[in-house]
Amino acid sequence: MELAEFMGLRPVPCAGLLLTLTRRCPLSCAHCSTSSTPRGEEPDAGRLLRFAGSFTAADRPEVVLLTGGEPLLLPGLAHELATLVRAAGSRSVLLSGMFFARGGRVPPPVMRAVTAVDHFSASLDAFHEREVPRRDVFRAVRQVRDAGIAVSFHLVGTGPRDPYLADVTTAIRREFADRVPMLVNQVRPVGRAAAWAAAGTQRPAADRALPCAMAAWPVVAFDGAVLACCNQRAVDRRPVPAHLSLGHIAEDDWATVRRRSLSSPVLRMVRAVGPAHLYRRYAPGADASGYCAGCRSLPAHPEVVAGAVRDASGPVGELLDREAARTQADAGPVELVRRHGCPPYADLVALPTPTTGTRSP
Ligand code: SF4
Repeated sequence: MELAEFMGLRPVPCAGLLLTLTRRCPLSCAHCSTSSTPRGEEPDAGRLLRFAGSFTAADRPEVVLLTGGEPLLLPGLAHELATLVRAAGSRSVLLSGMFFARGGRVPPPVMRAVTAVDHFSASLDAFHEREVPRRDVFRAVRQVRDAGIAVSFHLVGTGPRDPYLADVTTAIRREFADRVPMLVNQVRPVGRAAAWAAAGTQRPAADRALPCAMAAWPVVAFDGAVLACCNQRAVDRRPVPAHLSLGHIAEDDWATVRRRSLSSPVLRMVRAVGPAHLYRRYAPGADASGYCAGCRSLPAHPEVVAGAVRDASGPVGELLDREAARTQADAGPVELVRRHGCPPYADLVALPTPTTGTRSP
């Protein structure tokens, strides 16, 4: 599975699921906002497997993103999850900070996990390079690619003019002959999983709807809670704001989580028009204090929630949600990254990749 394909699914509600395997990470990158530490929390492995085991051929996400923290601290669990979800017809993607690549080798347990997924992506940025040298990351990624797995890089810089981004993208294009795609983001106050999911600190539009694609894929957080949003501030906050809570893997299965996400009138409206538009429509005088902050504050504005419930509970809300997703998906992954990532590098998400040797869907 190539980067552009699963990025193209990002705006589609419940087409994907983000699974946090752990909040642990052996690296200490300065920009990490997942609060990952060598001793971070993690969901119960048995519950994760039970939840992933609830997928059926008829009701499953298209793609499951295995993330962290560092998911390859648990290579056995990553392998089991990838194998389990494939049995139901889902595909899997793993994002790693490449802690294991020092020296350029891929240890056997890591290689076993990585060759069980359908796409492998390596995080690379100035902060990671202080922990693991670039040449070692390239050597390890080449080994994964030579094993037949589709690969990509997830790059982060300070902005479109960051000389690091110009340097590293040129180096990757040269090293891999323009055959490995890249997702380029700007450092934002969000975590690794959120960035993968086309994160962006969206600015409130003055007079138009601004859909939130980050509310499309459910997220299993470090404590097993299931949220509608991958914005790290939402993922870390407890209690989870009511409209962003989809349950817990201790009690709920995929079908329940999916039904809650698709049928929630507030989430339908957040996905279709965005929270800023909801405030303008239902509480014009309210101080929403920002796009995501306003969304997280929705429980304090019952008049906004009531308006969304009134207008989006029925078939009209369902249609609005579906059409917003279709419009964004039709625009394609490059446009999505142009809007949410680092615009001058958006085209790199769709770089051509080899068609031989990579795993078929
Ligand atoms: S608008 Fe709401 S759902 Fe979307 S990213 Fe922000 S907090 Fe999450």
